[in-house]
Amino acid sequence: MSVALFTLGGTISMAGRTADGVARLTGADLADAVPGLAALGVPLDVQDVEAVPSANLTMTKILDVVDAASKAISTGATGIVVTQGTDTLEETAFLVDLVWPHANPFVLTGAMRNPTLASPDGPANLLAAAQVACSPAARDLGALVVFNDQIHAARWVRKTHSTSTATFASPNAGPIGHVVEDRVRILSRPPRLDGVPGRAEAAALEATKVALYTITLDDDGLLLHGLADTHQGLVVAGYGAGHVPSALAPVLGDLAERIPVVLTSRTGAGSILRNTYSSIGSESDLLNRGLIDAGFLDPHKARLLLRHLLATSTPQPDLSATFAQHH
Ligand code: ASP
Repeated sequence: MSVALFTLGGTISMAGRTADGVARLTGADLADAVPGLAALGVPLDVQDVEAVPSANLTMTKILDVVDAASKAISTGATGIVVTQGTDTLEETAFLVDLVWPHANPFVLTGAMRNPTLASPDGPANLLAAAQVACSPAARDLGALVVFNDQIHAARWVRKTHSTSTATFASPNAGPIGHVVEDRVRILSRPPRLDGVPGRAEAAALEATKVALYTITLDDDGLLLHGLADTHQGLVVAGYGAGHVPSALAPVLGDLAERIPVVLTSRTGAGSILRNTYSSIGSESDLLNRGLIDAGFLDPHKARLLLRHLLATSTPQPDLSATFAQHH
C-alpha cells in the first residue's frame, strides 16, 4: 500500500514571510509534521509540483497533475493526495472528478490556518486525507475533498467561509463520510457520473473562452452585449431558481442561438426549477429560449464543465446530456 502526494502550495504549506515573499514547506516537510502519518505505515511518494497561491492554478496544471497521478496509480499507488490552497479547491476537485478514470481514491485537501499559527489544521487534514486515500471504502467515489475530518464528494462541495476551518460543506447533500478515530466511515455512495471524453489539451482550453455572469438587482446586462463574438460559452448565475430581469431574457435567448448558455442559481444551494414560474425571464421562459439547465450544479463548477466540454469539441446533445446528470 502507498500514497502518492502531490503538493501545489496554499496556506497548508506557508512557513512565514520572507523578504521576497512567502516561505513554503515541501511535501516532505508537511509529512514530517504529522506524527500519525508514520504510524499509518503507508509510504508516501512525494512530488512537489508547485508552490503557489491556488488563485494561480489553471485547468491545464490540474489536468497535468491528474496525468501524473494516473502514472502513480499504474505503478502501484493505492491512492492520491493533493494539497493546495483552499480558494479554488472546490473547482479543482470537480475538474479532477470529471476526468479521473480510476477506482482508486483521489483526495484533495489543504488548510485554513497556516503552520505558523496556533492550531494549524493542515496536519490533521493531511493525515485524514492519507487515511481516505488508502481506504478500500473510499474506492469508486471519484475525487473527494477531505477537510475537518469530513469527506465530501467533489460534485457538491463548496468553500462556504473565508476563514473558518469548517469552511468546506456540501449544502445540497452533506458530507458523504467522516474520519472518526482514524477510521474512514462512508455514509453514502453517490453513483459516479459519466466523465468527460478525454482531457482537454492546453491550446484548446486557451482558445475556449467561457464567461460567468452573475445577475444582480437592476442589472443593465451591458457586459452581455457582443459576448458571443468573444466567447464560446456563457454560464448565467441567475436569481433563485433561475431567474433574470425580463429585459435580459431576449438578450440571453439571442446568445443561446449562437453559443451554449447554461443556467445556474447564484444562491449556493438548490436546483434550477423548470415549470414553476412562467413570466418573461423566469426559468421556464429561459429554458424555452434554449438555455441549458444545470440542475444542482453551482455556477463555478458549471463554468469548468462547459469549458472542458467545449474544448473537447463535445456536440451539443452530449453537452446538454452531461449537464442533465446534475438534475
Ligand atoms: N489563499 C490561499 C490559497 O488558496 C488560501 C488557502 O490556502 O487556504 O492559496
